Amino acid sequence: MKKIYSYGKQTISEDDIQAVVETLKSDWLTQGPTIKKFEDELCKLFGSKYASAVSNGTAGLHLIALGLKWKKDDIIITSPITFLASANCAFYAGAQIDFADIDSSSYTIDINKLEDKIKYYLSQNRKVKAVVAVDFAGHPCDWEELKTLKEKYDFQLVNDFCHALGAEYKNDFQYAVKYADAVNLSFHPVKHITTGEGGAVLTNNEELDKRIKTLRTHGITKDESILEKNDGPWYYEMHEVGFNYRITDFQCALGISQLKKL
Ligand SMILES: *Cc1c(COP(=O)(O)O)cnc(C)c1O
Repeated sequence: MKKIYSYGKQTISEDDIQAVVETLKSDWLTQGPTIKKFEDELCKLFGSKYASAVSNGTAGLHLIALGLKWKKDDIIITSPITFLASANCAFYAGAQIDFADIDSSSYTIDINKLEDKIKYYLSQNRKVKAVVAVDFAGHPCDWEELKTLKEKYDFQLVNDFCHALGAEYKNDFQYAVKYADAVNLSFHPVKHITTGEGGAVLTNNEELDKRIKTLRTHGITKDESILEKNDGPWYYEMHEVGFNYRITDFQCALGISQLKKL
């Protein structure tokens, strides 16, 4: 048999295993209370108002694209030095992707080159809808400058934070949600901590969080304030086409345990 080489190695302790086993013995393998518990831990740790745990980081980016209402002909700009999902999420929403090159000292998106791109599109009468900035290999982007550009040109700002769990920017561990409208995390085993497959979206925007939570479970809602009618506890409505991007409870149990290692 062909030897398989791994390009990363997770650290799984006895505590992690016990956490998963406990959840496997509980009533809930999925859609249970451990998901909210993991989300609450993520909020506390990263200083976010809201968190949605999802099936993987790519699903998180897809939900961000839909949550931020990207559509056909919208222009999204990201870094050319990243994992492919940072760019693909634009296509999932039917939008267009373009790249602004990196700063050769930080390997993160170059602010001047980004501004040049934005100005180029403006000269064509086109507005950049969003920037997906990547905190590459643990190096935070120049978020102060990105925020200044966001205010100047009015675009949405996403942090593809998959490489930077645990990073600090201006001595602040909780910087990510302070600058970006949405922050994307992955818990693939090659990242800092793992849930096997898994991801999460952090945001301080309540409306965006609600959209992401609905879209990750088929676009289904039971929220009484928006139901068209209400036929009791089994009744639900689908208000738009969503996906099954849920994560399981036993993965979230692993996530809660792994967070102690970050
Ligand atoms: C890993 C990674 C993703 C995708 O995460 P998955 O959980 O593997 O889908 C997206 N963006 C970056 C920068 C990543 O490193």
